[in-house]
This record gives sequence, C-alpha cells and structure tokens, in this order.
Amino acid sequence: MTTRLEEQIRADIVEAGRRLYARAYVASNDGNISARLDEARLITTPKSVSKGFMTPDMMVIVDYTGKKIAGDRDPSSELPMHLEIYRNRPDVNAVVHAHPPLATGFAVAGIPLTRAVLAEVITTLGSIPIAAYGTPSTSELPEAVRKYIKAHDAMLLANHGAVTCGPDVMAAYYKMETIEHFAKISLVARLLGREHLISREEVERLQGLRGVYGIAAPAPLCADPAEAAAGDQVACQVLEAPSSPSERLVPASTDGEIRLTYGELTALIADAVSHLKD
Ligand SMILES: [Zn+2]
Repeated sequence: MTTRLEEQIRADIVEAGRRLYARAYVASNDGNISARLDEARLITTPKSVSKGFMTPDMMVIVDYTGKKIAGDRDPSSELPMHLEIYRNRPDVNAVVHAHPPLATGFAVAGIPLTRAVLAEVITTLGSIPIAAYGTPSTSELPEAVRKYIKAHDAMLLANHGAVTCGPDVMAAYYKMETIEHFAKISLVARLLGREHLISREEVERLQGLRGVYGIAAPAPLCADPAEAAAGDQVACQVLEAPSSPSERLVPASTDGEIRLTYGELTALIADAVSHLKD
C-alpha cells in the first residue's frame, strides 16, 4: 500500500526531474534523484528514462545496499553514490545528481566554487568543493564523494557534474539551482576580470544568521585550509575569504598575476627590444 508520504515523495521526484530537464541541468537520460522512504527503503529514479518526463509509478524502491525491492524498472548505476551519502549523513533524506553545464564547466576546469562572493550562497551552502574524478558506475565515485560529504551539502564532481543533498527532495533540488546560479555569476565576474571577495569577518556574520533562517549548516569553516587536506574525510569547509576587520569586501588576491592586453604586451616587448639594441 502506498502511504500519503510516499505519494508526496513520488510526486516531488517527478517535479524535481521535470525542472532539472526544463532548465537543461541534464540531457538525454542523465541525472538521478533519490529519497529515504523509511529506515529500510529508499525510492529512486529509474535508469534509461528522461528525468523530464517521468510518472510517479516509474520509481524504483531499493534497500540501503542498493538491492531492488519493488518497481518494474532498474535503478541508475550511480545509485552507489547516493547510498554513500545516506550512510554518512543521517540528517539527509534526499539526493539530487545532475550535469548543469556551467557548474560542470567549473568541474571540468578543476576550479572549485570556494570563493566567498555571494552572501546567500555563504549562508546556505558555504563552499562547493570538487570531488576527484571517478569512473561512473564504479566504486571510485562514491569514494570521491565520501571525502567531502560530511562537511558539504553540495559538491562538483570532476569531469562529470554535481551532487546535492538535503532534508527533502525539493530542498536538495534547490541546492542544485543555487550551484548553477553561483557558477553562472562566478563565470561572468571572472570574464569581467575581477571578483571582490566577502571578508572572513563578514562570512562569519553571515553564517551566524543561519539560525535566524533555520538553515542547518553541515560544517564550520576550517581554521587552517591544511585541516581539510588531512585525513580521508573532511570535517570543515575551505572558503576563500581574506581577513579584513575594517572592510566587508576585499579584492581577490591575484597571486602576483599581471594581466595585459595583447597590444600592451607587444608594446612592452618592442620597448624592451629597442633598449637592448641601444
Ligand atoms: Zn552523472
């Protein structure tokens, strides 16, 4: 018998899938969504189906080892990644995986979304790291996700896509929207040639507001970024937010990088060459 709760979860998965496809966060039959039904069962999207055109009866029910319990179809080969997240996060009731193109572009470039630039992202997600590349459908992907999942609700998957989790299906879905929106804004700021970062003091103030909005944050900021590199599971978040007690916004460090246009560079070379001849 299907309970009201299960009916609601099935409907939410259909709706989240429809939005993933409508916003082009997935192509073809990509992506997958899952949710806890109870302590013994999960419900998940079927493989080889467009997530934009699912119906509630298409879902697959599996146990926490991934074994199918009910459903006419089979679960995705990426289900082990979902199982790993549930094992590590008792507070998580839903997982969404997709390939949103801008966020995935950052994942392909190996650039994590860890700069403190948007107040709302700092409050809701903190930082978005990149889990190492793993061959899809092997145990490599769950292992890569395991490293970050205790401290992050959202992460990029190197050369693959992104994964988010939350207390329910729509909450996990909205985090996917936040990642892609953040990636789009970050790309524009970088194309424009500069980013102003939010200072560490302001980041702490923003994260202090989480209680006011009822946002459960998975982990605090790392006091030292080296903390995150040590150990096989990260327990804190790395966020690029330079300390500046007097300023709330500070220019991004350029690491000594100098940007010149082609014309400026050729003029400099011509000038240097002419001095050599003298
Ligand atoms: Zn995928």
